[in-house]
Amino acid sequence: MSGETSVRDLAVSVYVVPTDQPEADGTLEWSRTTLVVVQPTAGDRTGLGWTYGPAACADLVDDVLRDVVVGSDALDVPAAWTGMIRQCRNLGRPGVVSMAVAAVDIALWDLKAKLLDLPLCRLLGQARADVPVYGSGGFTTYDEPTLVRQLEHWVGELGIPRVKIKIGESWGSRPDRDLARIATARKTIGPDTELYVDANGGYTRGQAVRMAAAWDEHDVRWFEEPVSSDDLVGLAQIRDRVFPDVAAGEYGYDIAYFERMSPAVDCLQADVTRCAGITEWLRVAAVAAGHGLEVSGHCAPNLHAHAAAAIPNLRHLEYFHDHVRIENLLFDGALPPTGGAMHPDQGRPGLGLVLDPSAAEPYRRR
Ligand SMILES: [Mg+2]
Repeated sequence: MSGETSVRDLAVSVYVVPTDQPEADGTLEWSRTTLVVVQPTAGDRTGLGWTYGPAACADLVDDVLRDVVVGSDALDVPAAWTGMIRQCRNLGRPGVVSMAVAAVDIALWDLKAKLLDLPLCRLLGQARADVPVYGSGGFTTYDEPTLVRQLEHWVGELGIPRVKIKIGESWGSRPDRDLARIATARKTIGPDTELYVDANGGYTRGQAVRMAAAWDEHDVRWFEEPVSSDDLVGLAQIRDRVFPDVAAGEYGYDIAYFERMSPAVDCLQADVTRCAGITEWLRVAAVAAGHGLEVSGHCAPNLHAHAAAAIPNLRHLEYFHDHVRIENLLFDGALPPTGGAMHPDQGRPGLGLVLDPSAAEPYRRR
């Protein structure tokens, strides 16, 4: 390595990408996804990171984080991270704050790896060459042919041996629809592919246990957020009573959240774009290991791949339909999941991703 390592600039941009069709899970509907992209520069290298958070994250980067990061040494990412967290003390750590810090932290790790001319997984040190993924989508808005087509794409065309669909909608009137969609999924993927479901907190404790009994014949292996992630007692009770692994953690914004949740689940989910970046995500993995748990990366597969390769207790990454579509659309170097795993590119520095300006421009909002 040679040259200047002091961060001299921090560019921020916002992109809004519409979904390819209406999307919903058990408790939320959406029609677009926002990315806040951060690009710090040191010497002649520019880092790249982003969060899937609201445009307000960009204002927070400009108003609060910029002064901490510009002038910091790009090789000392934990120092910049600590400075950012300290600067946000009075703002409230969960939510927008942690998402904004995440975008900057990821970009700084990418920048450091580029300055050292290493793939990020090599800078962090690899625990594994393969990063297993599971296909994730199966939105409640899909009609049956659309659901079947998506499942066949993941399993048949890409060879992914694990898939997840959304459930937990309209419990009061139509629990039968959840059961019918689970049956359709199992029939489509055959007996050898793992089937996962995500209720996004849509059930009560009792409903979750009864539903798991009702779908028993379909061999569901993963029951995500059967009840609200805020109901740790409920998660633990359900985990003790159903066959599938109970998982949660996607709304975790700090390490203390994961410490509290660990005794209640079979697998911790953590999202690098929400939990203040790679710095904290690696520490969350250590918290999980201390509880004898594995970690599953939540969404944003191309932002997780290198960090995921660095932890011994990885279960898998979520190959989430929306984010896969966006990452393939906007970034050169997005990794394929062929055969059910991503393999961080050993021939490109950092995350191995390059924002394609001409592809991204139509979606740019600032
Ligand atoms: Mg989920």
